Parts: sequence; C-alpha cells; structure tokens
Amino acid sequence: MSNSDRYARLFEPVKIGPLTARNRFYQVPHCCALGHIRPQAHAAMREVKADGGWAVVSTEETEIHPTSDISPYAEQRIWDERDIPALKLMTDAVHAKGALAAIELAHNGNHAGNLYSRTPPLGVTDMQVDIGYPKQARRILKKEIKAFRQWHRDAALRAKAAGFDVIYVYAGHRMTLTHQFLLPDMNTRIDEYGGSLENRARLLQELLIDTREAVGDTCAVAFRFAVDEMKGPEGMQASEEGRAVVEMMAELPDLWDVNVSEWDNDSLTTRFEPEDGYQVKYMEFVKSVTTKPVVGVGRLSSPDMMLSLVKRGVMDFIGAARPSIADPFLPNKIQNGEIESIRECIGCNICVSCDNIGIPIRCTQNPTMGEEWRQGWHPESIPKKQSDKRVLVVGAGAAGLECTMQLAKRGFDVFLSEKSDTAGGRCLRESTLKGLSAWRRVVDHRVHEISQQANAQIFWDSDLSPDEIIELECDDVIIATGCHWRNDGVGQHQALGIPGLDRLNVYTPDDVMDGTKLPGHTVIYDQEQGYLGGVIADHLATTSKALSFVTPGSVVSAWTTYTLEQARVQKSLIEENVNIVANKRIVRASEGGVTLRCVFTEQEETLQCDNLILLTQRAPNAGLYNELKAVIDAGGKASMPSLHLIGDAEAPAMIVDAVYSGHKMAREIDMDAAAIDAILYRREIPSLSS
Ligand code: ADP
Ligand code: SF4
Repeated sequence: MSNSDRYARLFEPVKIGPLTARNRFYQVPHCCALGHIRPQAHAAMREVKADGGWAVVSTEETEIHPTSDISPYAEQRIWDERDIPALKLMTDAVHAKGALAAIELAHNGNHAGNLYSRTPPLGVTDMQVDIGYPKQARRILKKEIKAFRQWHRDAALRAKAAGFDVIYVYAGHRMTLTHQFLLPDMNTRIDEYGGSLENRARLLQELLIDTREAVGDTCAVAFRFAVDEMKGPEGMQASEEGRAVVEMMAELPDLWDVNVSEWDNDSLTTRFEPEDGYQVKYMEFVKSVTTKPVVGVGRLSSPDMMLSLVKRGVMDFIGAARPSIADPFLPNKIQNGEIESIRECIGCNICVSCDNIGIPIRCTQNPTMGEEWRQGWHPESIPKKQSDKRVLVVGAGAAGLECTMQLAKRGFDVFLSEKSDTAGGRCLRESTLKGLSAWRRVVDHRVHEISQQANAQIFWDSDLSPDEIIELECDDVIIATGCHWRNDGVGQHQALGIPGLDRLNVYTPDDVMDGTKLPGHTVIYDQEQGYLGGVIADHLATTSKALSFVTPGSVVSAWTTYTLEQARVQKSLIEENVNIVANKRIVRASEGGVTLRCVFTEQEETLQCDNLILLTQRAPNAGLYNELKAVIDAGGKASMPSLHLIGDAEAPAMIVDAVYSGHKMAREIDMDAAAIDAILYRREIPSLSS
C-alpha cells in the first residue's frame, strides 16, 4: 500500500457547518507575537501553513473590544472596522492556498490588564487581574452582559467581513471571560449567570446562539473548550462538569475544538510529558456526545497516531499548533509519502516563550518560522545556488548540520568535517539528560536530510588543521565548532572568576554530560538561570544523595517561566529534596565549601560541599577559527577561502539560535552585505492615521 493510500483517511474532506474542509488537518489557534502589530508577517506565516496542506488555518486569540486589551502582548485585534484590512491580509493569503481561515474571538476578562486602553478590566466577579499587575477587574454588571453579547456579535460580523470562514467562541485556558463564568472557583455570582452549571454556562450558550444568528448563514461556528483543568476534583474535570458542558451544548456549535487548561497543561513540554497525544485521555469522550466534528490536540506529529485517532473515532480533525510550527508542510509530506522528512516538534516551547517575551515567534526545529515576511524564508524552498562554490563546514552540531543541509539543498558541493564519530554536538549531548531525549529529533532530521543529498559528504573523526583546511581549496569555510562551559567562574557578576576554585572539585555541565561521577555533596551554581541548570539538578537528583542548587534568582531556572515550565521544574526539585538556595551568589570557594552572598543584603554565609558545578558562562570554541584566520590573513596562496563563524562558536546561545545561525549562513553565502541588511532590518511601519 502506498503512503497516500495508507493515510487516505486523513485526507478525506470533512463538513463543518455550511463549509467543507479539504482534509482533516486543522491548525488550531496559536499565538505568535506577530498579531495586530505585525499583520504582514502574520499573514505570511499563516499562508505558509495553508500552502503546506492544512485545511483550516486559525489566528491567535483576537481581542473583540478595548475592554479586552492584553497589551503588551501582541495578539490579534478586532476592536472595530479599522482592524478589518489587516486581518484580511491573512484570509486572502490563506484562501489563495486553498484553506479555510478561522478566527478565535476572545474577551479576556480578568486576563486583560487593559494597560493600553486603561479601561477598568471586566471580570465575572471582582478579582485581581492575572497578568502580574496590581490592578483588579470589576464584576461585569448584568446590563453590561447584554452589551458584551453585542460586542461579540459585532466582532463576529466584522470577522465575516474580513473573510473568515470559521468563527470561534472561546472558553479555555482560564483566559477568557466566558471560561471564567463557567468555572466555579471564579464565578461567585448570585444572579442567573452564577451558581448552577446551567447558570454559569448561560453566557456561553448565548454567545454560541448569537454567533450562529449573526454569521451562521455562511460561516461555521467553532467552540474552543477546555474539558479538563488537570487538577482533579479541585478544577473542572472531563468526567464531571467538563462532560456536562459538552452534553448541554452538544449540537450548538458546528465544531468542537477541545483541549485542557491552563496553557501550561495545554502546551506541556516533552520534558514533563514525553508522550505525544497526551490530551487524548481527557477529550476522547467528546465524540460520543456530539454529532459535530471534533478537533483535538497534544503534540500530534506521528501520522500513524493520527490515523489511529481518526479510525478509533477519537477525533475528526488532527489539531496542531506546535507540530504545525515545527513543520508547516506536515500534511503535504504525509500525503506525498515524505514521512522521513517531517520535522517533528521537540516540545521545547521556544515558540511559546516568544509570545511570553513579546518577540516574533521562532522555532527550534523550523528556523524559517516567523521569518516568512521579513526575510522571505520558506520552510521547504530555498534559492538555488548563484555560483559553483565548494564549501567546507566544520562541526556537526545544530548549526553545522542545518547549514550543511541547506547548502546542499541549494546545490553547493558541501563537506562537513566532524571531530567526533557522531553528529549532534551539544544538542545530542543534552538529549542524554533527564527529560530531554526529544532534543535528538533536531539531529536525526538533519542527518537524514543530508544523507539524501549526493552533493553533501560528512567526514567523521576529522580534526583538520588550518593548513589541511587550506589544502582542501574550498571557496568558503564555515566554522561551527560550538562552545564549552567555563570552569573558572567567570560570569556576569565576576569578570575575573570566582577565587579559590583550585581548592574544590569543580565541574561544568559538560562533565555531567560526559557521565562524570560526583560522590558526596554537590552544589550546582546556576548563575545563568536558563533551562540547563534545572535540568542538571533534576538529572543528578536521581543518583545524588546530597544536592544543593544555588541561584542569584528568586526561583529555580527563572527563564523557564517563558516556556511555561518553571513551576514544574521547581516542584520536581523540591520533591527530589534538592536544597534550593535562592537569592545568593557564590563569591569564594575554599576547601570543603563555598561562600554565598545575599544579592540584597550582601550578608555572607558558607555552604559545605565536595563538588561544585558551575553554570556561569560559556566560552566559544573559536581556536580553529582564530588560527585559520591568522593563516588566511598572512596570505601566501593565490586564493584563500572566505571564512565564517556561526552558532555557539560565534556567540553561545540556545539551540534555536544555532539552527537559525546555520540556516542564515546557508542563505547568505552568495549574497552581498547590502542585500543581507536590507532583508534583516525590514520592518512593518505603523500607518500615521488614527
Ligand atoms: P552549535 O550549537 O553551534 O551547532 P555544538 O557544540 O552543538 O555547536 O556543535 C559543535 C560540533 O563541532 C560538535 O559536534 C563538535 O564535536 C564539533 N567540533 C568542535 N571542534 C571541531 C573541530 N576542530 N573540527 C571538527 N569538528 C569540531
Ligand atoms: Fe515544537 Fe519547540 Fe518548535 Fe515549539 S519551538 S514548535 S515546541 S520544536
């Protein structure tokens, strides 16, 4: 059976109300921090998904009214008619590629701080806003509920005018007023909108009916609903009220888009939920309750799993946010039998972190994500070479692999020289740590793709000297030799290092990844406060009897707040009895311990230990680059190669940055500097009209 036959069920058209979706692939709403402030970038990103075969392509949440202003986050806006042209950019682009366009209308209730509109936020009850700003939402009055229904209805009409086919009512993530009405721990009203489930669900029912009346003649009405809050009897459960809500409104929408709440549960990382498809157990009842099509999510990237979910009647549509970000061409690849070429999501939530930071979306697996408009990048097509250069790439980490793969796809003759006998560098090494095994997918995808290119060759165990590199007579040499963790304590707060380290057993994450055994009491000093410190602690906690985690931050792995993991990281270390010492810097080491200083009071104390693991700073492995540069600068040969430095060897950062750096290099190798700058600094300029 050919692949297209095998997966034919995934490509059946499915009716959604008055419309027909061309297949079962459904890009559910997902944020991207492009939103209303970068409408052209937004349209271009969604267009690529439609081009990649998704039958429905959705926006992120779209604020329906100035009382739902979630500034500074850049989501969509449909406050009034003036928002229509920007949204129409997306619907036109998506329609041109044969997909339906969906819009997730949202009023954020107490999740909207209204920091731009400065209107008092509206909540189901008087309640603190949940965005970390000391301000309260006030209880929406009954007469205002009437106005609220009108706002939602007007927004639906504007969405229709903007060309959207599927219009959402959204009750999920505790982020929308309708969800907040539904949840008993938020809704303490005593009017007909509070109390019993029927009362708490009243507003939702009204919105579903209003929306259908307003736009249901030509548009489909979708209902996004979190069936379970994943906190047992403390919250809404799929076995109790979650199911009752679906039963109550079973036939009201044209489509059920069901997930779990809150966002950190809905977008669980592989570190804390390695199983793809983890949401199925919560939502699989839905199809037995409604005759309407059902879409579900949970990092669904395996075609066999998708097929099984459809065949077993769990869902009609394969919903995806992250798998569609990692590989916008997932549907087309399945249909064309290119299963091996799928870039599987690694569940790292770098994409999510962008929204939380407020920067355009990016993805570890897909370096073109968010760059479709600015740099004109496309995940599956890259310009053919403009010259016949022979290129040597040194180092087969994330940067070198991506660069080699893309250069080969462009048609260049590429040689990849790797010092060790395996590809993957830091990415592969980190994948051996607890919870990070999915990191391997970054390596495996690229190694496979390179193996398909006759014009790319990898040399293993190859430690070329500068002279040997010159002898190869390549036109360009790209150094991607990575970086290593420093063991001298040099870091942001101590440019000269930590004194006294010679009196202790000092290690770095590199030693842990090498499997070095650390008997006795180990202190991890996480000055970096990224993800790795917490991973190392979690990894060692299973074998170490005495482990302390010292950080200048007030929580463990502060950066992971952006990837929605921080609470789980801290919980895990607490449960493993790791001694967490927050708000302290290590200022000295001595025999048998370290001296800590409070970051606020400068008060000092000592902490006994046998071993110290330092995450203070990394040092680029730029030795080969520097030696080669000296040889090239000295001249002596008629033609010397152009030399480039990329990835962690240029500036240590995250894996997402190394992949991006390798990709960029491959595209720019035959571009002149002015052309590169023109693309890189392209931006959307706001219009001066009001
Ligand atoms: P990045 O994240 O920038 O891709 P990595 O540390 O992941 O960097 O990968 C660097 C890779 O380069 C590793 O696989 C390492 O073994 C390899 N490497 C380092 N120095 C050399 C060298 N002199 N010659 C060939 N390969 C090297
Ligand atoms: Fe998946 Fe990570 Fe890409 Fe997000 S950034 S889509 S989690 S690989």
